[in-house]
Amino acid sequence: MPDDAAPAEPEPRPGLDLPWADGSFPPGSVAARRQVWDALMGLALHEASHALASADVPVGALVVGPDGRLLGLGRNRREEIGDPTAHAEVLALRQAAATLGSWRLEGCTLVVTLEPCAMCAGALLLSRVGRLVLGAWDPKAGATGSVWDLVRDQRATHRPEVIGGVRAEECGALIREFFATQR
Ligand SMILES: [Zn+2]
Repeated sequence: MPDDAAPAEPEPRPGLDLPWADGSFPPGSVAARRQVWDALMGLALHEASHALASADVPVGALVVGPDGRLLGLGRNRREEIGDPTAHAEVLALRQAAATLGSWRLEGCTLVVTLEPCAMCAGALLLSRVGRLVLGAWDPKAGATGSVWDLVRDQRATHRPEVIGGVRAEECGALIREFFATQR
C-alpha cells in the first residue's frame, strides 16, 4: 500500500482530556454547566490546597480550552518563589499559553477559587480568555466586580463572560482557615 493511502494520524490536541471534554464544552443545559463549573472548581480547590505547604495564601486556578481540555494549572506561589506576580491566575495563564504555543487564549475559560486582583484581571484581558469562573468574591481587592470591575468596564476592548460564586463557601473557607492559623 503506498504511503499516501495510509490512514491519517489524528492531529494531537494540546492539553489533557477531562471527563467532560467531548467536543460539546460547556454543555448546553444550565444544570449540566453548573456541574462542570463545580467539577472544575474542585480541581482548582485541590491545586489551591498545595499552596499551604509553602505558607502561601491558598488560591488555585486553571485554564481549559474551548473544547474543555485542561491547558494550564497554577496556585499562588508568591512566598514559595518570592515573586510578587506569582499569583495562581498568572501562572495558569502562562502554562496554558505554553501548552498552546500562543499567548492568545480566545475561547478559553479561566477558573479561579478567588476573585482576581487588578493584576490578574489585566492578565486575563490581555490573554483574551472568553470566560471567567470564580469561586469566592474578594471584597477587599477583587477587580472583576467587587472593588473594581475591569472586565466589564465600558472602555475595555475585550469583555469575557463572568460566572461568580461557584463553590464560594468552600473557596472562602479555605482562605479564612489559612488566615486563622497565621494569627
Ligand atoms: Zn492576582
